[in-house]
Amino acid sequence: MKLKKGDTIIVTVGKDKGKKGKVERVVPSDHTVVVAGINVFKRHMKRKDDKNPGGIIDLVKPIGFGKIALVCPSCGKPTRVGYVVAKNEKVRVCRKCGKKL
Ligand SMILES: [Zn+2]
Repeated sequence: MKLKKGDTIIVTVGKDKGKKGKVERVVPSDHTVVVAGINVFKRHMKRKDDKNPGGIIDLVKPIGFGKIALVCPSCGKPTRVGYVVAKNEKVRVCRKCGKKL
């Protein structure tokens, strides 16, 4: 799956199934993406100093490509990404409605 920063995705498996979010970061080497509000873990931090007062923080963990689907901005449905070559340029398209992504 080829995802970009700013893409809207929906989670298809796991505890966040059905949740939508925007891609904040793509980690191609790990095949994961970081999505705000998705895959959030509570982490208890010890107080270190004034900059790190400790307490419970929300830690957003990357989620695997296999657990999410891209939501097409044109038809609003979870879809797979297709490619068409136009003017020597690869363009991402929605497999469902054929619109450019
Ligand atoms: Zn579409």
